[in-house]
Amino acid sequence: MDIFLASPSGFCAGVTRSIEILDTAIARFPGELIYMKHAIVHNQHVVDSFTARGVRFVESIEEIPDGSVTILSAHGSAPQVLTRATEKRLRIIDTVCPLVLKVHTEAKRFRDLGYEILYIGTAGHAETEWVAGYAVGHFHVIAKSVDVDSLSLPTDTKLALLTQTTLSVDDTRSLVETVVKRFPQITLPKKEDICYATLNRQNAVKALAEKVDTVLVVGSRTSSNSNKLVHVAESAGMRASLVGTWRDIVPDMYAGSHAIGITSGASTPDILVKEVIAVLEKAGGIYRGAIETVNETESFTYSDKIFAI
Ligand code: SF4
Repeated sequence: MDIFLASPSGFCAGVTRSIEILDTAIARFPGELIYMKHAIVHNQHVVDSFTARGVRFVESIEEIPDGSVTILSAHGSAPQVLTRATEKRLRIIDTVCPLVLKVHTEAKRFRDLGYEILYIGTAGHAETEWVAGYAVGHFHVIAKSVDVDSLSLPTDTKLALLTQTTLSVDDTRSLVETVVKRFPQITLPKKEDICYATLNRQNAVKALAEKVDTVLVVGSRTSSNSNKLVHVAESAGMRASLVGTWRDIVPDMYAGSHAIGITSGASTPDILVKEVIAVLEKAGGIYRGAIETVNETESFTYSDKIFAI
């Protein structure tokens, strides 16, 4: 059984930036408790490693003592959270991904202009919940075409379309077409808000189909983009399973396979992928290297001023 690695896969520029900022904050504020609102990324291994270094992860800003050093995650934050953080005099370091921030800025701008926002995304996902805070009462989540059918909006409503960054590109394309058919007056994003990393990882999985019949996606169940990679692999005709770590692998996942492809979500550390490959090698697999579809060079910088809190 041959083993191939999809490339690019793993950490994106937004996740790398967020982790670097938290890492630096730990060094910059020795002896202080550092609070992180929400998981820094949707990966338990990463969360556990920072928990072991003393970072306290919380879901509500109310759990954080007034005046504390507080890191906000790459998924962005609702404006109500930022207001409450100011009231509590929290010393905020916001690691929101610049691509997520772009969607928030668009939501606020359209709402200020009186638009209703249609948002292609997953209800309940952090990114969805928090961007909704910029258009409370005027925000409509669309996950399937039936959601478009069930919208009851006057025909002359000013509408703007936004999308979650980590969705399946193919699914989003067909939903955008459905929305435009129903609401031809809708203002579309300048370009789809799905990020470069999501697009690149999905294209890399599709390219695996030339060599492999089975795919293991390394990523957490809570990771939207990891789940979508499973869907993309299956849509391309491959058997696919999501594994959090090598411990989740069972022989049934690759039984009868002549070649297996490995990929990982944008929040998955490389070490977890290496461990998965090692386990498959022990089971008789031969690692043949990476199949690269694009050389990803994006990086998101930040100013040292971010720590002046
Ligand atoms: S997946 Fe894309 S939008 Fe999300 S953190 Fe990474 S670069 Fe940013």
